Amino acid sequence: CGIVGYVGQRSALDVVMGGLRRLEYRGYDSGGVALVHEGTIVSAKKAGKLVNLDAELEARPLPVAHTGIGHTRWATHGAPNDRNAHPHLDQTGRIAVVHNGIIENFATLRAALEASGHELLSETDTEIVAHLLHDELEHTDDLPEAVRAVCRKLEGAFTLVICDAAKPDVVVGARRNSPLVVGRGDGENFLGSDVAAFIEFTRDAIELGQDQVVTITPDDIVVTDFDGNPAETKEYHVDWDVSA
Ligand code: GLU
Repeated sequence: CGIVGYVGQRSALDVVMGGLRRLEYRGYDSGGVALVHEGTIVSAKKAGKLVNLDAELEARPLPVAHTGIGHTRWATHGAPNDRNAHPHLDQTGRIAVVHNGIIENFATLRAALEASGHELLSETDTEIVAHLLHDELEHTDDLPEAVRAVCRKLEGAFTLVICDAAKPDVVVGARRNSPLVVGRGDGENFLGSDVAAFIEFTRDAIELGQDQVVTITPDDIVVTDFDGNPAETKEYHVDWDVSA
């Protein structure tokens, strides 16, 4: 039940795994990460505690990358196994998605995707998002615009964080009825389901409002509503002691 996103100069894997560890207190049944590396998505995911994911990463190391997303899952749709763990990718492996929450209308959306030839690999409500994004990206090269278009089709509660093999320095997040916070760094930016995800690196945070999409790059943070209009955000400084 945690989400982390990172763009910057550090090892994205280290930042993301560190963030997931700080979110462990929320409880979870599986973990996973995806990185953007030389025009591809590389990923690892594993049921069970993060030590299982650590072992997987040791057995099959991922290359060093500077853009990444991570997830701890609390299963709602589909058993807690490796296949249902996040990230979920589209069929070409271009898009990686992590999600906390529940997409209420996923069965309808899944049926439509399958009818148009999409092959889904998991039982989650999440995987449809990667496939819907794939289809949107046939009409536009604008990732945030594609995310907004997909969000407009979704019902329920979701925090989504997404990366795209074709966009080496971008992570996009979205939220409805589920939390998402941005951490503002210097030449790096962060996303988290909670400030604990990035508190080691920055205490300058932005709380997203309802139905907003955020695009982070190393030097920029852009927030819009689901229609693409610039959105009001609340910036604050985390001054409480979070050492754990
Ligand atoms: N509904 C999603 C799933 O079951 C996400 C659950 C979560 O919040 O971690 O995979």
